[in-house]
Amino acid sequence: MKLIGASVVITCDNNFTIIKDGGILFDNKKIIKVGKFSDLKKDKLEEVQFYNSCVITPALINSHIHFEFSKNHSMLKYGSFGEWLDSIMNNRDALMQDSTTHIKKAIKESMKSGVACVGAISSRAVDLDLLSQSELKVMFFNEIMGTNKDFFDKVKDDFNERVKKSKLLEDVNFKTAIALHSPYSLDIELAHYAIKKAIENKMLVSTHFLESKEELSWLESNSGYFKGFFKHFFHNDDAESHYSKDSFLELFKKCETLFVHCLYLNNDDWDRISKLKADIISCPRSNRLLNNRYFNFLKAKDYKFPLIIATDGKSSNNSLNMLDEARCALFAYEKYNINNLAREILLAMTKNPAKRLKFNNGIIEKGKASDFAIFYVDDINSAEQIALNFILQAREVEDLYINGKRIDIENV
Ligand SMILES: [Zn+2]
Repeated sequence: MKLIGASVVITCDNNFTIIKDGGILFDNKKIIKVGKFSDLKKDKLEEVQFYNSCVITPALINSHIHFEFSKNHSMLKYGSFGEWLDSIMNNRDALMQDSTTHIKKAIKESMKSGVACVGAISSRAVDLDLLSQSELKVMFFNEIMGTNKDFFDKVKDDFNERVKKSKLLEDVNFKTAIALHSPYSLDIELAHYAIKKAIENKMLVSTHFLESKEELSWLESNSGYFKGFFKHFFHNDDAESHYSKDSFLELFKKCETLFVHCLYLNNDDWDRISKLKADIISCPRSNRLLNNRYFNFLKAKDYKFPLIIATDGKSSNNSLNMLDEARCALFAYEKYNINNLAREILLAMTKNPAKRLKFNNGIIEKGKASDFAIFYVDDINSAEQIALNFILQAREVEDLYINGKRIDIENV
């Protein structure tokens, strides 16, 4: 058994319990007891450590990230979704160069910001071995996309191959899932094919949905940016949307789904998604950069969706640092009481995504996995607004524990 403690433990449990001079007694499998550090100290402990002027939180969860796009820094255009997608199409090969090096860096960067668990969207499985061998807990979403019938067999074979490979690598820290890229990039035949596989194998599904107004006008009226997109990049003059919004949402009736972005939902859409077994992930910095808009968090609350935030890939973000994402969200929602928002944001990267990714983490309480992040925060001992001060000040982990083991991040 090991014991760690810190000036403050933020448990992220149902009551948002915060323990000053708190401690956690744990082994490699799970948390044994949580309480005051001094009460938990006893003989015969394998390891005892108290982190002064520090905060312990559940290790953070980044539930939507594309590691394969980790090379991007200044290659792509922001400010409009159409310009961004064009720049992706024009730079696709350059973006994928030296992927291994950049994915390794991205794993390290994630861990440094306290992340122990990810929902990784993978389109080519370039990240498969690196992620399965890493210390991270990984929900590995094999992504499918394709609109040209001539290549459907190839797309299906490749998708099958990737799913099969990732299933072979499954263990307690690595699970296989499926991602449908988006309604504009996926033919209905391929979508049904992938969904069938997800249902048969009881796999979690993820999809981008209504990220942009360009996608909205494509789904509603077959018009706008995507008309030109298919003409220019696929020489298809007669392209039409494969779905209405409703027929796309129909696909997810029988599976558990994470919808990503959802920036352009109307009341009917909110209604429909709320009836599915689904949650919505929001990526605030990505949404600001591509669509000049933030997710309607207040509306989501009306429909009882918990807030979940993630970074998305580096193709639409300046870093994979979850704490920077948290700060962006904190400043984005000016109508919301800032202390309440700080607490919601902490849950948005711990307890709330944990419910869907199911690695038994995201909360510091008896029986949960021993996944913790420890951050130095100056003067936190005397702070009264702990969640808020934590989000404002925390920069990089002092230590990160996954399954009770301290991770040597510099040498991963
Ligand atoms: Zn994404």
